[in-house]
Amino acid sequence: MKIEEVQSTTKKQRVATHTHIKGLGLDVGGNALPMAAGFVGQAEAREAAGLVVDMIRQKKMAGRALLLAGPPGTGKTALALGISQELGSKVPFCPMVGSEVYSSEVKKTEVLMENFRRAIGLRIKENKEVYEGEVTELSPEETESVTGGYGKSISHVIVGLKTVKGTKQLKLDPTIYDSLLKEKVAVGDVIYIEANSGAVKRVGRSDAFATEFDLEAEEYVPLPKGEVHKKKEIVQDVTLHDLDAANAHPQGGQDILSLMGQMMKPRKTEITEKLRQEINKVVNRYIDEGVAELVPGVLFIDEVHMLDMECFSYLNRALESSLSPIVIFATNRGICNVRGTDMPSPHGIPVDLLDRLVIIRVQTYGPAEMVQIIAIRAQVEELVLDEESLVYLGEIGLRTSLRHAVQLLSPASVVAKMNGRDNICKADIGELTTLYLDAKTSGRLLQEQEDNSTPRPKGLIEGDVP
Ligand code: ATP
Repeated sequence: MKIEEVQSTTKKQRVATHTHIKGLGLDVGGNALPMAAGFVGQAEAREAAGLVVDMIRQKKMAGRALLLAGPPGTGKTALALGISQELGSKVPFCPMVGSEVYSSEVKKTEVLMENFRRAIGLRIKENKEVYEGEVTELSPEETESVTGGYGKSISHVIVGLKTVKGTKQLKLDPTIYDSLLKEKVAVGDVIYIEANSGAVKRVGRSDAFATEFDLEAEEYVPLPKGEVHKKKEIVQDVTLHDLDAANAHPQGGQDILSLMGQMMKPRKTEITEKLRQEINKVVNRYIDEGVAELVPGVLFIDEVHMLDMECFSYLNRALESSLSPIVIFATNRGICNVRGTDMPSPHGIPVDLLDRLVIIRVQTYGPAEMVQIIAIRAQVEELVLDEESLVYLGEIGLRTSLRHAVQLLSPASVVAKMNGRDNICKADIGELTTLYLDAKTSGRLLQEQEDNSTPRPKGLIEGDVP
């Protein structure tokens, strides 16, 4: 497993509208500041969330989960993101919507499992050391022990490296010898050796290396030859899903038919249970060796009432696992049937899972808070609005939803540009309200149209194309 090549699979788009949220904005006593860390209002919910953060830190949330309950557009996603940021800037945050589990291609529990692994981070620490060494002639015995046989074939050019640390501790492989050969390194030359936790990664002539590694920089105080030149800790944060995806093999064989199929459709990779188990094994080894540590993140499942019994029983089991992230559910439903059953339950969640939940209620915003939130978003998106436009957007937010008002910002800036201005004014927003509808109005208009239209007779009527 090559950690350096692991790509991040974090769902960045889903959190794009919440980039201004940097935490919960609480003071040292856990009280919500009126406007801090990008947060405005929602004071009680933020303070309650702060207590949950303390419980997580004290490991008192094991086997339990959090539910954010409240009307749409009240910042539930923002609260969940705030909690993850309070836990640490590198703590993974994986948002998903309940309905995502219904796919024609993937099992529901598979979707949940993938998202669980997206929410579990792994912090890998490697010690990178740079040595200075001199190429020296070694005795045949030394060559043999240092190079494990590789040295023989190239002994006429270079036969070994000696550093104070002792070459014998450094494992050299053929590619490293090849790179030395390419550089025409000869006996007596000073070279640099980059080792990663004891294993040699690269060697090169001092001048080339010095530029690349910025060896002239202050922190690289030159040490006597052979000493460790620089030791630095490289930290890489990945998620278990990043590792799964990086190691998954492309599906399909190499025969001509499957290759043609792959040309038509982008290659799909399959993450099997066996692969996950292997990744877990490697991860556990890293943890045992002290090279890596687990960073449990936050899995946010919005519209939890969309999940069915199969998903809930999976979640019940997954919460018990020692590898579980913090799970935060959100819903805007009161009492409704658990999906797929005729069993009514609070928030459509079965009782056994409800028992595990800590529930926080979120409240709707007043006009002043709406305006402040819209102003923060405008600032983040680098848009200039006058006071009148802000108040107008606030009114629209109250009438429709906060999300709709926030979403009008970008098109309003386009309209302003078309009208030859950089700053948005009320007229630009007014123009938009005739162009775009919010969900409630759009639904109501269609319903009215349906009610007003005369019922269509069954069968073909004149003018229809058969
Ligand atoms: P929900 O999950 O409740 O439907 P959400 O968090 O997904 O809501 P909205 O409530 O629709 O998103 O919020 C719209 C925008 O306002 C987002 O950019 C969100 O980050 C921001 N926002 C919501 N509440 C607050 C708040 N209290 N302080 C600052 N920004 C907020």
